[in-house]
Amino acid sequence: MAILPITVYGDPILRKKAVPVKQIDDEIIGLIQNMFATMRNANGIGLAANQVDIDKQIFIVDVSPVEGYEKIKPVVMINPEIILQSDETVIMEEGCLSLPNLRADVERPESIKVRYLDTDENVQEIEADDLFARVILHEYDHLIGKLIPDRVNEEIKQALKEELQQIKNREVKVDYPITAK
Ligand code: ZN
Repeated sequence: MAILPITVYGDPILRKKAVPVKQIDDEIIGLIQNMFATMRNANGIGLAANQVDIDKQIFIVDVSPVEGYEKIKPVVMINPEIILQSDETVIMEEGCLSLPNLRADVERPESIKVRYLDTDENVQEIEADDLFARVILHEYDHLIGKLIPDRVNEEIKQALKEELQQIKNREVKVDYPITAK
């Protein structure tokens, strides 16, 4: 397993819609193992493939390190679709490994239903709520080229501008490997 450098704000791949996976082969399985190593090294609870510079519709989520979520098993979602979203929303502070040190309040649906392929190519459907739903929606956003600044109001967006520029310029202290500028 390898720890891969994480792409950061300004890297074009983070703005692209990721390509669906056609076949789940050894290369994909190896990539997923590296994604888990990379996410854990960075103390993250979710990671999308384009965050390790791979243009594919894959993300992983593991909220079990968070108090109260220990029972939720790590999950790999391939070619995911959000098929239901609740009208009720929740505002919670969010971070992102591709936006080091940045935090912002983001409003998202409280619960969702998601359909995806697992690593055995079986179609799965699960319901998720609370933090688990939030992380899935955040990672799904990565696969459609969206980041936290796209999910906040104009006022917060303006307030984040300078910080985003610093991230783009790598003028931030990060304790995990990131891509070169
Ligand atoms: Zn993120």
